[in-house]
Amino acid sequence: MNDYSAEEFLDLSKFSGLGEDPAYHPPVLSDRPRDWPLDQWDEAPRDLGYSDFSRYQWRGLRLLKDPDTQAALHDLVFELKPRTIVELGVYGGGSLAWFRDLTRLMGLDTQVIGIDRDLSRCQIPQDEMHNISLREADCNDLSTFEQLKDLAHPLIFIDDAHANTFNIMRWAVDHLLDEGDYFIIEDMIPYWYRYSPQHLIQYLSSFRDVLSMDMVYANTSPQLDRGVFRRLPKKDR
Ligand code: SAH
Repeated sequence: MNDYSAEEFLDLSKFSGLGEDPAYHPPVLSDRPRDWPLDQWDEAPRDLGYSDFSRYQWRGLRLLKDPDTQAALHDLVFELKPRTIVELGVYGGGSLAWFRDLTRLMGLDTQVIGIDRDLSRCQIPQDEMHNISLREADCNDLSTFEQLKDLAHPLIFIDDAHANTFNIMRWAVDHLLDEGDYFIIEDMIPYWYRYSPQHLIQYLSSFRDVLSMDMVYANTSPQLDRGVFRRLPKKDR
């Protein structure tokens, strides 16, 4: 039998989350000393010397948001002063802890809610969970989102799970978002625009009466590229 006959293949495009290890490991320099001698200063390698793939962290938890994205979200949180942040996609949990700590530093009373169909990879220690709650739900089954009603506003809703996104966006508009609340699509817009531009344009345009793109934040980082949307005032029917 060939190896491939015995293998049970995972669908890697569905295995969201960067890599296979949700735990953060500090960079290890394998090919150079950490203390580089200054009399050889001009011979020092300029590359990182380790994989930069997993280096973003918050207090020892992997955080899949790069520094530009962190800066943009900091500005949005400071401007909006959200009372609820919902993030689809928990993975190691670093971004939940980061949002919680950020809002606490700003003196805000913000509940951070992390949603995932697989919460087993969350690395936040039990005694570090204040103002963070984890909820199991599957983006492909919108009935599992019913538990999210009656949340405090202003509210930021971030899609970082990238499954069934536009049906979730419609559900959020209909059931969750008040005027001024945010719906953010992380990472995916440039890819969808590259591979399915007509669908993307058509889907986004169908939300024109209920959402606008906030141009202060929509161009701030590649991860947020044209994916930051704000709930417009509700119109009387
Ligand atoms: N927000 C995190 C990273 C999330 S990674 C950060 O910034 O650090 C994406 C997560 O989406 C994974 O944990 C994966 O389990 C989850 N996910 C993928 N498909 C999903 C689905 N259909 N429903 C719920 N969660 C899903």
